[in-house]
Amino acid sequence: MKNEINGKTKIIGIIGRSIENSLSPLIHNQIILKYSLNFCYLPFQTTKTNLGKAIQGIKALNIRGVNITFPYKEKVIKFLDEVEESARRIGAVNTIVNNKGILTGYNTDVIGFKKSLQEDGKFAIKGEKAVILGAGGVSRAVVYALLEEGIEGICIFNRTPEKAEKIKKDLSPFFPGSNINIFPLEEERLKDKIEEAHLLVNATSLGMSPKIDNTPLPDEKLFHSDLLVYDLIYYPAKTLFLRQAEKAGAKIINGLPMLVYQGIESFYLWTGLKPESKEILETIQRIA
Ligand code: NAP
Repeated sequence: MKNEINGKTKIIGIIGRSIENSLSPLIHNQIILKYSLNFCYLPFQTTKTNLGKAIQGIKALNIRGVNITFPYKEKVIKFLDEVEESARRIGAVNTIVNNKGILTGYNTDVIGFKKSLQEDGKFAIKGEKAVILGAGGVSRAVVYALLEEGIEGICIFNRTPEKAEKIKKDLSPFFPGSNINIFPLEEERLKDKIEEAHLLVNATSLGMSPKIDNTPLPDEKLFHSDLLVYDLIYYPAKTLFLRQAEKAGAKIINGLPMLVYQGIESFYLWTGLKPESKEILETIQRIA
């Protein structure tokens, strides 16, 4: 396991607004180390005003590719040469590949979410009902992943219901017969809908460090033991939402497996190498 920077080292990295606490550099540089590859993954912090210049810089500096994170996953699309179909439908890109000066955008959050749900959550998706709290950028990828796998029904609860309506309007044409219902977050029907569901996802940022006393669910009695409760947040590893769900006897999963799997998928797009995901996840769980 040798890691040496030299004239042939290929650069990959992450572009975002505040990425000081991002785990992506750790994940990718662990993979690079493990497979002794001549790559290096770097953080590139940029402002909204400089985003276009930063994307041009990928070409100018012959960077192999980057991840795109909050809040630029949607804004970045206009600076790309090509966008892969599912990323275009979702309207968000989290990975850019530079192929001889042609920049192509992908969305690996979809596959990351799906894989974590199926492998870590042992959740089959098809024919199930899900409640999703939140309608921001990541919620779009979550809804897309569930529809692609044949979920029977999705209820989205969001503080700003118009944003959830937009997700429904944008995505349902690609999935004829899809069943998506929208409600405001502070809605009494949350109780009934959670009772009917087997999957409850927190796709809001409520509970994320440093505001760890926040939770999107107003009442912990709404959890039940027949639920898989999934919090997309990975810092802290166990949010208040997950702690309350666990207390109610529900099975829980946090956002780390998804983060690792989407990263592995991006890594594959840049290098053609698909690392062993369970081993990488265990390493990151141990050292993060
Ligand atoms: P985003 O686009 O900013 O969306 C934030 C969501 O949280 C929106 O639904 C927003 O509601 C809701 N929200 C924020 N503050 C709220 C409040 N005070 N009360 C009620 N609702 C509130 O963010 P995002 O990119 O979708 O990310 C959401 C979360 O997912 C973050 O915690 C992020 O760390 C996590 N994430 C995890 C992964 C992973 O790989 N595990 C990947 C991406 C994101 P409004 O629409 O009403 O504003």
